[in-house]
Amino acid sequence: MNSISQQPVSQKMVYLNGEILAIDDAHVSVMDRGFLFGDGVYEVIPVVGHKLLRQHDHFVRLQNSLNRISLKNPLDETQWQLIFDELLEKNPGEERAIYLQISRGVYPLRDLAIINDELVDGSAEQYPATVFVMILSVKKVDLSVVSAGIKAITIDDFRWDACDIKSTSLVANVMLKQQAVAADMDDAILIKHGYVTEGTASNLFLVKDKVLITPATGHQLLSGITRELVIDLAKENAIEVIERPIAQAELSEADEIWLTSSTREIAPVIQLDDKPVSNGVAGPMWQQMTQWYLQNKQALL
Ligand code: PMP
Repeated sequence: MNSISQQPVSQKMVYLNGEILAIDDAHVSVMDRGFLFGDGVYEVIPVVGHKLLRQHDHFVRLQNSLNRISLKNPLDETQWQLIFDELLEKNPGEERAIYLQISRGVYPLRDLAIINDELVDGSAEQYPATVFVMILSVKKVDLSVVSAGIKAITIDDFRWDACDIKSTSLVANVMLKQQAVAADMDDAILIKHGYVTEGTASNLFLVKDKVLITPATGHQLLSGITRELVIDLAKENAIEVIERPIAQAELSEADEIWLTSSTREIAPVIQLDDKPVSNGVAGPMWQQMTQWYLQNKQALL
């Protein structure tokens, strides 16, 4: 899984609060609520050539996250687009993704309460949000590596009841991922009250008797854009998809298990805890779905 993680780029140009800067020159106040409380939201949008994969869906999810934390979107879509275009031009690369983050900005006091007062003329928030955008350089997905599959452990999902918010408050995910790493596994599949929720940064699909099953969206998991795409591709190709709760016990009976995300795409899980998933190799449905996924990406070029 680490093979498709982001690569550091030496001198990135980033956007911060109206300016395009070298990453080393981009600074945020220690009083920023994103820094103090993780009081913000973010998005990661894959870039294919110069186009953004499922941009509209990412913006819908961004708006949902902002609504849930009562924060206004500080920019309109045209303004976002101008920033993306400029940063993509200034940060060339083969495989890239856009990372954008909005925090509730800098308040004079460290106080949890939100101040929504507007200026007298109603033109602006008293404390403007902090807007940060950078281009992530993503390692090209190598199918021969991905098809080798990943190993996952099941862990108790102790996160909050607001996992549909793509929040920068990610300490729980950090802890869960670290439990997987400490167990010498690639990732964790999270279990809440006996049912699967998702991975630490991905959604889960299970294949059983040629049917694709995934937990329904709600407050327990993030509504992944890749998840939506996989569901659409399955339906277009007459594969049955069921969105329903998945009991932990079903994992050991699965024909295939996949984890999906924007940067990981579709990763087959070949080992779960200490047992192989089915016969321990990436399955035929994964092969087929990956072909459809790549064709869909190719069509954007
Ligand atoms: N769940 C969580 C907790 C995640 O962090 C992510 C990746 N951001 C996903 C699911 C997958 O979402 P997407 O397909 O939009 O990348």
